[in-house]
Amino acid sequence: MGIIEDNRHLEELDKKYIWHPFTQMKEWLEETPVIISAGRDCFIRDIYGRWYLDGVSSLWVNIFGHRKKEIDDAIKEQVDRISHSTLLGLSNVPAIKLAEKLGHLINSSLSKVFYSDNGSTAVEVGLKMAFQYWKHKGVDGRNAFASLNNAYHGDTLGAVSVGGVEIFHKAFSPLLFKTYKGPSPYCYRCELGKEYPDCRIACLAELEKVFHEHSHEIAAFIIEPMIQAAGGMITSPPGYLKGVRELCSKYSILMIADEVATGFGRTGKMFACEHEEVVPDIMCLSKGITGGYMPLAVTLATDEIYNAFLGEFKDLKTFFHGHSYTGNPLACAAAIACLDLFGKENILDSLKEKTEILRNWLKDVLNLLHVGDVRSAGMMAGVELVKDKKTKEPYDWKEKVGWRVAWKARENGVFIRPLGNVIVIMPPLSISGQNLKQLLKVIREAIVSTTEG
Ligand code: PMP
Repeated sequence: MGIIEDNRHLEELDKKYIWHPFTQMKEWLEETPVIISAGRDCFIRDIYGRWYLDGVSSLWVNIFGHRKKEIDDAIKEQVDRISHSTLLGLSNVPAIKLAEKLGHLINSSLSKVFYSDNGSTAVEVGLKMAFQYWKHKGVDGRNAFASLNNAYHGDTLGAVSVGGVEIFHKAFSPLLFKTYKGPSPYCYRCELGKEYPDCRIACLAELEKVFHEHSHEIAAFIIEPMIQAAGGMITSPPGYLKGVRELCSKYSILMIADEVATGFGRTGKMFACEHEEVVPDIMCLSKGITGGYMPLAVTLATDEIYNAFLGEFKDLKTFFHGHSYTGNPLACAAAIACLDLFGKENILDSLKEKTEILRNWLKDVLNLLHVGDVRSAGMMAGVELVKDKKTKEPYDWKEKVGWRVAWKARENGVFIRPLGNVIVIMPPLSISGQNLKQLLKVIREAIVSTTEG
């Protein structure tokens, strides 16, 4: 078979066998799938040899680009030692070394590292830890959680229970546990009908009402610090996160920071909590931890939480949770190489110039006819498209305006994936200034031709 026939065969096999995530398969079957076969730096290449700028870091995971030598080598070296052994009843070298590195990276009070393998499991672990912490402390009744409207914490049922994105989560509502919801800090479409800064962050006061009424039932409050990502790149106003921390302390509610999307430099600091000097009780990390190479996640906890689980065997205070690939040595080796690169390449400093390019571009596209709002935190950005700028009337989601922009961009060599009417921009942190400008140019043109053409 020639290359073209091979490629057609792959396309057929994809359609025959793969059920793609978050994808209406009927539509997928009507299109020709883009199949990726290689990557380099911030580009991915399909089987026909077309290159695309990876505008969403391969779903928000890639940090240093594809085929990064140091990470490639670390995985290869680890393969030559051992690829997997269990953390249940055994330990392994990369898992230990990585745990120590994480301890130094993050506030020293979050020194206990519990491994799992994706963002959703990191959240499940955090929720279960928080729930059982209170039981072990002899406190009854804290059987619920609190979170925000528009929150997204993953797709397993515990994570969905604390989620707040209707379109993804509503169908599962009969299966979910009790979660009290506070308003989303979504200034452009304020749930309370107020305007920032005159509102003096009234959504915090609303959250306090929830805490005031239900704190005796709430084990923990979970939040995506600084930016609700999958909910539509919703950035919270300055002081909001700190205010949340204060409320959690005031009402003795554990604070879980879900830094799955924001962690590892995405917002311009290593962790988003650092922007407001907040230290949570539990922190969930995944995505960028391996530079976008391997599935790995950690849930970090304070000594206070960890110590509550210590006891005699017969006390049954053991944390009964663990996955087959927990602490996988290949993934931990990749993560160690990735963290070393943060030190070696000083990537956080290099972001200043790039975030400036991004911010200036956002300011410019805000002038477009159908751009209602632009939001960013470091290298995470969203452009909200609206039907009517004056009234903020949104496009009907069935119009798929976000997708139409993404398809247009794809024709011009840029891969992006929208969230409804919000265009998401989140390239690898290592992207060059020149490639970033090219990415933004193509996206701008795609917005203009889709919404004004
Ligand atoms: N939490 C947040 C904040 C996320 O953005 C995501 C994924 N987008 C998750 C959790 C779930 O991670 P995963 O897809 O690896 O399960």
